[in-house]
Amino acid sequence: MTHYTGAVPAAQRPTDWRLLGACAGLDPDRWFPRPGDTLAVQAAKSICFGCPSMLRCASQALTRREDWGVWGGLSEGQRATIRKKYKAHQLENPARLEAAVYGALHFELNPTETLRSVWDDNTCVLPGGHLGWKSASTSFSFHGISITPKQLSFLLDRGHKAVGQVRRSPDCPVVECVHPRHLMDAEERRQRVVAERAARADTNQLAA
Ligand code: SF4
Ligand SMILES: [Zn+2]
Repeated sequence: MTHYTGAVPAAQRPTDWRLLGACAGLDPDRWFPRPGDTLAVQAAKSICFGCPSMLRCASQALTRREDWGVWGGLSEGQRATIRKKYKAHQLENPARLEAAVYGALHFELNPTETLRSVWDDNTCVLPGGHLGWKSASTSFSFHGISITPKQLSFLLDRGHKAVGQVRRSPDCPVVECVHPRHLMDAEERRQRVVAERAARADTNQLAA
């Protein structure tokens, strides 16, 4: 790529993946947006998504631990997430690397996929009216935002994001359950404690 800052060979061969990059000849600054400029990040990514060097570029950036800029369609945060999830030697495996990159970009490359379709595709009915999550991963990235199955369940059911951690309610004994009615966020847990305390106070008053 044109804004490659590593060991640029003195004489690049015509097949060099950087010369084939869709950003060749464009202003390199476009791949280094200011922090928080999500529109500029998306603009850079959209060029990467049509780039024949995308995987190679992502691989090099992950190997070199590039902290800044958009490389191979991946933002800084997405590369950090991949590096947390995979060990360096795992990313040397081309198949693993491809899975990691396309996994991180899945929803950006499939914009018609919605959170509801992710939910429908990944949940399964468990005995006793509980719901399970088919995929082994404990969280996934949706348009660059990391979300867990329990957070997704809560969001789709309540129509708003959870406050704090989403946990199973004390009434559900199934550890892996993601049934929205068997989950509570921090605010609902607080309300439950308040309601239980009020109910106890009423009972004590009646008994007195
Ligand atoms: S993937 Fe993006 S940053 Fe990398 S070479 Fe292609 S256009 Fe340039
Ligand atoms: Zn349950």
